[in-house]
Amino acid sequence: MLTEEMQMIRSFIRSIAEDHLRPLAQEVDEKEEIPRMHYQLLSEHRLYGMNVPEKFGGTNISACSHLLAIEEVARCCASTSVLLTTQALAIAPILIGGSEKQKEKYITPLATGARIGAFGITEPQAGSDTARIRTRAEKDGDYYVLNGRKVFITNGGEAGIYVFVTTVDKSMGNGGITLFIVEDGTPGLTFGRKENKMGIKGSTTREVILENVRVHRSQMIGEEGSGFRVLMHSLNHTRPGVAAQALGIAQGALDEAVNYANERKQFNQEIIHFQGVQFMLAEMATQVEAARRLVYYAGELLDQESTDVIKVASMAKLFASDVAMKVTTDAVQIFGGNGYMKDFPVERMMRDAKITQIYEGTNQIQKLIIAKQLLRR
Ligand SMILES: Cc1cc2nc3c(=O)[nH]c(=O)nc-3n(C[C@H](O)[C@H](O)[C@H](O)COP(=O)(O)OP(=O)(O)OC[C@H]3O[C@@H](n4cnc5c(N)ncnc54)[C@H](O)[C@@H]3O)c2cc1C
Repeated sequence: MLTEEMQMIRSFIRSIAEDHLRPLAQEVDEKEEIPRMHYQLLSEHRLYGMNVPEKFGGTNISACSHLLAIEEVARCCASTSVLLTTQALAIAPILIGGSEKQKEKYITPLATGARIGAFGITEPQAGSDTARIRTRAEKDGDYYVLNGRKVFITNGGEAGIYVFVTTVDKSMGNGGITLFIVEDGTPGLTFGRKENKMGIKGSTTREVILENVRVHRSQMIGEEGSGFRVLMHSLNHTRPGVAAQALGIAQGALDEAVNYANERKQFNQEIIHFQGVQFMLAEMATQVEAARRLVYYAGELLDQESTDVIKVASMAKLFASDVAMKVTTDAVQIFGGNGYMKDFPVERMMRDAKITQIYEGTNQIQKLIIAKQLLRR
């Protein structure tokens, strides 16, 4: 159950998302760009830092409230919601493994939205298998020299603060993984072309190239070789955000399908009176509500700092993203031929939903994580 405070937060964010984000969602998709006004809106309403301590620029309301914000933003504009989930992805490793100095210097501008963040894990040969990361970090006195290529990086070329996953010794597998904070403008940090994607088209995705990027050791998060633990812990914190994004997309598509079914007439009656359509809508609504319970449960576990979040975060991401894919596809069906047209929003929502089954660990990887938690040691 949502507390009264959370219900108020939800209706407030819903109203700003409906007034300011929904009207531009189609344009964001077509122009493949998020307007500056959307960045400002999230920042003005302090949506980036709802789960971040006040001393680092956040409002520290709760992880659950942050999930509500992502859900409500995604319900109206999935691309804009990626700003929230990616900012959380950049904040998490610094909050979990960073020094007080790093937190003050980097989390504050990320939590307030003064600077945009990005997190670079994926490489051409290392997607699900992070142990195969090749981006090298070589020690040179008080500095490290980073060399490698990251692919599919959200906010690549747009962000001011990057967190990169590197290895100090690739023969050590996960034991060599080390994280670094790199600021935009650091010599040797360059970007590839903007990827042409299926969905979340307003969000920028680029290759990021690190060529002799020299960073002081004070930019390292934690110790050499401590990165894998921080990385896994960070993803446990951020996956509920992707689940909330999927939930929002699914809810948005359900709302559109219900409205359309109440208005579209065939055989002299609104199509909602046909049992075939009613059954589809009933299943969609049930799935969305079940996903919502799991997403909010993951948020509660985050707020309680429970270790059960490892399993439940993956369950929430797995379930909510599958629901988003199913519900948006069924919404297109309910719209008939119109559903296939870009003039109606459900086509965009179906394309936007797909990514939630892929990034921050594919759903196959989520199943591995869940199963690992069920194994008797
Ligand atoms: C739009 C977009 C934005 C992204 N943003 C970022 C970002 O900001 N930062 C970042 O670091 N990355 C980002 N990514 C990368 C994303 O996290 C990876 O694409 C994802 O983790 C999968 O890796 P992969 O693409 O290499 O697929 P692969 O790992 O090659 O997987 C291919 C297929 O094999 C399956 N598979 C792999 N291993 C197993 C296994 N052990 N068991 C069963 N099935 C398996 C997968 O589930 C998948 O179906 C983004 C990707 C996209 C498309």
